[in-house]
Amino acid sequence: MTEGAVAASTSSENSKAAKGEKRPRAFVSGVVAMTAIMMFAAIGGEVVANIIAGTASERDPVLAVALLLNIALILIGWRHHNEVTEQIKSHKEAAKRARLLANKDPLTGFLNRRALASEGSEMMRRARERDRVVAMFVIDLDSFKYINDLNGHHTGDVLLREVGKRIMSALPGAALAARLGGDEFAAAFQFDPSNPAAVDAIADELVERISHPFDIERQSIQTSASVGIARSDHDCNGIETLLRRADIAMYAAKHQGKNRAVWFDGSMERMLEERNRIEEGLRQAIPNGEIKPYYEQQIDLLTGRLHGFEVLARWEHPTKGIILPEEFIAVAEECGLIADLSESVMRQAFIEARDWDAGLTVSVNISPAQLKDPWLAQKIIKLLTETNFPAERLEIEITETALFDNLGIAQSIISSLKNQGIRVALDDFGTGYSSLAHLRALPFDRIKIDRSFVASINDDNESAAIVDAITRLGTSLGLPVTAEGIENEQIEQSLKHLGSMAGQGWYFGKPMAIGQTRRLLADKDMLTARQKDEVAEEALDDLRKLRRTG
Ligand code: C2E
Ligand code: CA
Ligand code: CA
Repeated sequence: MTEGAVAASTSSENSKAAKGEKRPRAFVSGVVAMTAIMMFAAIGGEVVANIIAGTASERDPVLAVALLLNIALILIGWRHHNEVTEQIKSHKEAAKRARLLANKDPLTGFLNRRALASEGSEMMRRARERDRVVAMFVIDLDSFKYINDLNGHHTGDVLLREVGKRIMSALPGAALAARLGGDEFAAAFQFDPSNPAAVDAIADELVERISHPFDIERQSIQTSASVGIARSDHDCNGIETLLRRADIAMYAAKHQGKNRAVWFDGSMERMLEERNRIEEGLRQAIPNGEIKPYYEQQIDLLTGRLHGFEVLARWEHPTKGIILPEEFIAVAEECGLIADLSESVMRQAFIEARDWDAGLTVSVNISPAQLKDPWLAQKIIKLLTETNFPAERLEIEITETALFDNLGIAQSIISSLKNQGIRVALDDFGTGYSSLAHLRALPFDRIKIDRSFVASINDDNESAAIVDAITRLGTSLGLPVTAEGIENEQIEQSLKHLGSMAGQGWYFGKPMAIGQTRRLLADKDMLTARQKDEVAEEALDDLRKLRRTG
């Protein structure tokens, strides 16, 4: 049973108990008062008549006492009856209030999830009778956590109430509006199935209204909303399915860049199933060590010297072969597995790389989700100690988008890392906010130009201008630059003309598994004696295998 349902059932039991106890009491007190009144009519009538007629007998003083007692009884009975009636009234009101509270979100006054489910199914039933269809919106704010962290919970609460008002203002009159929890809202209303454009218009209006700045305690607060829309026809068997579909569509809206409304379609459900399969797989794959570090060479473009490797995760799946990070990193982030994944990949890479030439660096990628962990720097430092890998040879790559979400924590993580001698690079530069403020506020050691600009430097003037501008920015800030995505010699030549920089890309080699990396390093004489022996051992093994098959 959900919390709301628990609250509702408890309050209705209380009110039942109240009714069961008070009803007979009110009845009894009513009967006592009525009997007293009837007795008063019978006895009082006789006594008063005798007194008036002057025929009072000896019995009458007794009767007079009985009469007085009778009057007292009437008064007590009547008062008691009134008290009990009053109590019943207030119990009824309390029960009504409790029922209402169990259905409402206290902050916004919107329905809660449970109430939306019951009123929404009722709306679906009525819509079917009239050949109409229910549209369900799931509305999620895009940067609420950031606003809450930055401005405090009070501002966050006021913002949620104000967002609630704007949602109401965009919805048609008979719509249901609910707060599902946190910064997630929902709304439902009927529409004519032949005119879904009317729903689009409402959704667009809602997104537009929420995107205007909010004026909260003399501060201008900017947010936006991602809206998922689902409709109750199209083989939707109930309110829960409708809500789930709108929720899936809301995530699609987020993935498509936020601040927009997106309709649910069947392919989204299949994507979700695929995503869940990946999540389940990862839960096994990480502890089993199936996520392996691959190594991409980083070259000094002027001298052609190998100066290090970027570590890129690959899932060596027992049946599906090699899976690329774009298929599993985002899932690992969403389901909270990224810290374990990252630790496993880093540990393997550090253990491997400590036996390489001491001049070779190792760069690892850190996800935005990891930058929310205030202990991240300590965890990395602990890992370095455990694997006996020198901090000076490690570089951490952080994207600018990751900084924007958690500037405060990111700042303290970066300074802890730097205090230990670890270097920090700003990854994918040019794709995010490209803010000079970020570059100045955080003590980066390197800028990496995003591969989308580098790969098209010779085909696209704008890309060439961006690469040039970033290179000059690096020079003026005294920051070394790495260009990624160098796919051929022509790109390498164009970059060399811009000045001194490092580079990586398929022209120098694709990311390699450990065996191939070792062979490359052995050729360059950049391995320790122990690793050289291991490489020689492997080569002998290969030779024997070849002879056997040949
Ligand atoms: P990234 O950090 O921008 O990594 C560079 C990506 O560019 C790699 O893709 C690499 O294989 C690819 N690449 C390198 N040279 C070229 C080239 O010449 N042309 C083209 N078209 N691509 C090139 P990959 O390995 O698929 O990784 C994709 C992204 O996944 C990475 O982008 C990084 O953001 C993320 N990632 C990979 N491994 C990890 C990890 O261990 N942890 C985290 N948090 N993220 C990771
Ligand atoms: Ca990177
Ligand atoms: Ca990159």
